[in-house]
Amino acid sequence: MALVVQKFGGTSMGTIDRIKNAAARTIAAHTEGNRVVVIVSAMSGETDRLLRLAREVTAVPDAREMDALAATGEQVASALMAIAIQAQGMRARSFLGHQMKVLTDSAFTKARIKAIDASRVQLALEEGEIVVVAGFQGVDEHGNITTLGRGGSDTSAVAIAAALDADVCEIFTDVDGVYTTDPNICPSAKKIDRISYEEMLELASLGAKVLQIRSVEMAMKYGVPVHVRSSFSSSSGTLVTHEGDLEQVVVTGVAYDKGEARVMLVGVRDQPGVVAEIFTALAAKSVSVDMIIQNVSVDPTGAKGAHTDVTFTVAKSDLARVRDVIDEIGRKVGAVDVRYDEDIVKVSVVGLGMRSHAGVAAKMFSILAEHGINIQAISTSEIKISCLVATKYTELAVRALHEGFQLGNAPADERTPAI
Ligand code: ASP
Ligand code: MG
Repeated sequence: MALVVQKFGGTSMGTIDRIKNAAARTIAAHTEGNRVVVIVSAMSGETDRLLRLAREVTAVPDAREMDALAATGEQVASALMAIAIQAQGMRARSFLGHQMKVLTDSAFTKARIKAIDASRVQLALEEGEIVVVAGFQGVDEHGNITTLGRGGSDTSAVAIAAALDADVCEIFTDVDGVYTTDPNICPSAKKIDRISYEEMLELASLGAKVLQIRSVEMAMKYGVPVHVRSSFSSSSGTLVTHEGDLEQVVVTGVAYDKGEARVMLVGVRDQPGVVAEIFTALAAKSVSVDMIIQNVSVDPTGAKGAHTDVTFTVAKSDLARVRDVIDEIGRKVGAVDVRYDEDIVKVSVVGLGMRSHAGVAAKMFSILAEHGINIQAISTSEIKISCLVATKYTELAVRALHEGFQLGNAPADERTPAI
């Protein structure tokens, strides 16, 4: 008998009819002979509504109370789900984070799971019940209710699947899987049947927001197979798993991220300690930096000594803090000019096969060049190449790369648009 963890996201829980539909799917899995644990998110829009209420009271609500408030969304959803399963003739019981229990640290609004005690759930499963667990929430060692950060019920589901040694963690959502790129800007985007944890992490952090990143990290760590599926169709979805289970393709997907800004310090002195000074100052302000490029330009006359341009990217949301630091550091390190550019997008190609195939970077750059797209910065990892280009080229670059790497050749009936 297999143990299946199913997670239903906010849109899948959005109305009573949808909850009934989700309940029917859990019952179907149970009837097929599986033990079933269901993790639920709050009904769509509910977490936002709750957080807004607190902000109507005060601009800076207390974090502990915010978690007590936000966790009610999942409490409602889990009880409704249990009721819906019972109404369809099956035994079910709901558990909150502290009942189950999901022990976390005390970092309210972004708590991390430390341990899971699944004994009550095990017992209920042995009694033949479908177990419903409120996602997104836990309890700290002092008994305070905590939440895991926005989108955290994915992480709840994977953590519970790991704790129960489940055979699969099914994530039911409003899209039918992970796509080769964003179908909203590239109509030929194709659903990926299987993808590795590593690739999924690269795609997730690059803006394909199907799964919370932390849940993928956890699935990789504990080897939990994650099956992303649509609540609204019977399509086969995408399996996120170990690379050993996969046929290797060179490029799996094309992602883009508009969330970064570029900073350039022009003509700083090329001597030991300069970049250390720049990035130490940023670290002191807790700014994380993504791409970094340093390029030495030697003055041919030798009169001014060697100079270097330092370019890097940061989250747009950090840019105000970065300006404060960099304007000052720029003067200290003798920068001729400091430039900030928010009008950029990072376009990336991701694929495990890059490890063993040469020429992917050359091909990417050639495709962009053929379309007249200037590359402003480049960074690479073992399985990813990213190029920074002007925002106006987002659609063109994504479509050209998707076509150039021949990612879009699925028949149209395999695709279901997001609802
Ligand atoms: N309800 C929470 C949120 O909206 C958690 C989740 O949906 O995963 O962020
Ligand atoms: Mg979600």
